[in-house]
Amino acid sequence: MIELNELTKRYGETVAVDRLSFQVRPGRVTGFLGPNGAGKSTTMRMMLGLDRPTSGEVRFDGRPYARSADPLRHVGALLEAKDVHSGRTAHNHLLWLAQSNRIPRRRVREVLELVGLESVAGRRAGQFSLGMSQRLGVAAALLGDPPVLLFDEPVNGLDPEGIRWIRDLMKELAGEGRTVFVSSHLMSEMALTAEHLIVIGRGRLLADTGMKEFIARNSLTFVRVRTPEPDRMHQVLTERGITVTRAADGALEAVGDQAATIGELAARQGLTVHEVSVQSASLEDAFMRLTEQDVEYRSPVSRTVGQQGERQPTGQGKES
Ligand code: ADP
Ligand code: MG
Repeated sequence: MIELNELTKRYGETVAVDRLSFQVRPGRVTGFLGPNGAGKSTTMRMMLGLDRPTSGEVRFDGRPYARSADPLRHVGALLEAKDVHSGRTAHNHLLWLAQSNRIPRRRVREVLELVGLESVAGRRAGQFSLGMSQRLGVAAALLGDPPVLLFDEPVNGLDPEGIRWIRDLMKELAGEGRTVFVSSHLMSEMALTAEHLIVIGRGRLLADTGMKEFIARNSLTFVRVRTPEPDRMHQVLTERGITVTRAADGALEAVGDQAATIGELAARQGLTVHEVSVQSASLEDAFMRLTEQDVEYRSPVSRTVGQQGERQPTGQGKES
């Protein structure tokens, strides 16, 4: 298990990572989600000991991270930047890594096969496409057969086949009992891969939750109502205990799947309606709302993590 305790990183005025505390458990894929610039890569570099925290700490199974003589046997990582010596062949790149980490030579062949690069093992890594480079990066991460794996935006630049391959691989690695921690700025990607979700925005923790739970909370259903008498309709619905907000185009949005109730209320009250339609906000919308609010609210008041389900679907602050 990986444990972050009040991890903080400042670059001058910028607080890239802001008192981040969470745990990453073995046996499942944990997604690390946040918009660009949220602090994901900085956090991962600190987890790997490649960047020094301003304060706070990272612990692996209760122990502080210490640079060991053969780090690839403990933590495997695919970072965003390519760090392959472009003049070396794929095979020699891996062999060099294996030798400096006391890993047997035969493991190089094994990982090349695992990532599907055996046929190009003799080619220079500098000539590799982005997809091939990503595969080589994964091979390097797996070289030491480590119990912990960190992947920073691994699907960036991959074709659909490569994306599916990496998703399946991460699930397989977690299924073997390893700790798999993977970052992305795309909610849709995380929804397909991760079982658990850590969401950050501006370096701060916004949610630490099961994926199913996040989906259940955030897949909001609401009923869109257009009427020439919005104020009366608003009143009728509110009196019935239905939460209503107003969309930018003047339509009302009632939280919940209550189209039948709304239709009946309208008929009983003699209200004309031009539209009663059931809508659902996508997960991507939920993620946008969660992180947008963090940008809007610059107050120092600490937020309650995991309350995102209580927000309104749209038209916040426009209640009539
Ligand atoms: P993410 O990976 O989520 O896109 P990063 O961790 O790369 O976010 O960046 C978080 C913030 O820290 C950004 O504002 C970025 O500009 C800043 N930052 C990252 N690395 C450095 C650095 N070496 N020097 C100065 N600022 C940095
Ligand atoms: Mg990044």
